[in-house]
Amino acid sequence: MKVKILTIFPELFPGFLGTSLTGKALDEGKWSYEAVNIRDYAFDKHGSVDDTPAGGGAGMIMRPDVLGAALQDCYHGGRLLNMSPRGAPLTQAKVHELAAEQELTIICSRFEGIDERVLEVFGAEDISIGDYVLTGGEQAAMIMLDAIIRLLPGVLGNDESFVSESFEDGLLEYPQYTKPAEWQGRRVPDVLLSGHHQKIADWRHLQSEIVTEQRRPDLWKKYLASKKI
Ligand code: SAH
Repeated sequence: MKVKILTIFPELFPGFLGTSLTGKALDEGKWSYEAVNIRDYAFDKHGSVDDTPAGGGAGMIMRPDVLGAALQDCYHGGRLLNMSPRGAPLTQAKVHELAAEQELTIICSRFEGIDERVLEVFGAEDISIGDYVLTGGEQAAMIMLDAIIRLLPGVLGNDESFVSESFEDGLLEYPQYTKPAEWQGRRVPDVLLSGHHQKIADWRHLQSEIVTEQRRPDLWKKYLASKKI
């Protein structure tokens, strides 16, 4: 997968994506990135990319002409994403959808956001990583990319390992245990030591349902509705 990132802080990349599984995948060419500095497209020698909001108010807004020039030069089709708290929430289903793309272009903004016109003209898709506000789109883009890259073929050693993960079947994951079998007077549930595969699978499924119902009533409702269909 090829990733193009438009940012005023290209030095932030690859950041933590350069370590561990995502870093190994980068070294192996399973994904590559180019961080384009939006300031290179500014019209003045100071590299100004922002200006005051039309209609007044706090903060600065990224100018459509500067970002537009950057997009004109380096965006040649494919999925165009803009990180924004106003976007569609990033879900594991969306992550799978994006992991199937050959090429992604991601706009990372700072300040109060971006002039709406440039997003309309280039048909950018707003994506949010959650209902809270960060200082910049770069952090959000890295989290989204981390989730995408681990799904690329061959990145996780064992392709089984995400089949039973949280969100994959609409449920949170069951509790996990390892050795020792007893620690601080607490035993690993007997069923997990029984060697009985069907019983283990049934226990895990039940635990997934219990934990989802308790912690995420929103997911639980959707899960029940999907079972009825
Ligand atoms: N004024 C904006 C917030 C700007 S935060 C608003 O109220 O909607 C500055 C930048 O950080 C945003 O433009 C966006 O690129 C990024 N950002 C902040 N929170 C984010 C989130 N939850 N998901 C994705 N990007 C986010």
